[in-house]
Amino acid sequence: MNLKIKCPVCGESVDKFDICDNCGWQNSGPDEKETDPKGPNKMSLNEAKIAYNEGKEIN
Ligand SMILES: [Zn+2]
Repeated sequence: MNLKIKCPVCGESVDKFDICDNCGWQNSGPDEKETDPKGPNKMSLNEAKIAYNEGKEIN
């Protein structure tokens, strides 16, 4: 079963709970909170969006 969602950082199609090939964000599914880092990401989603917009590495 392959559930694709949009990457919350860059908007690319990505598997649920998978790492985005485009930006490197690992999404936590559709209920992801903007401000709490979850799972393997060291950044919060807000920080990751800023980093992506500035062309910085997401981790
Ligand atoms: Zn992405």
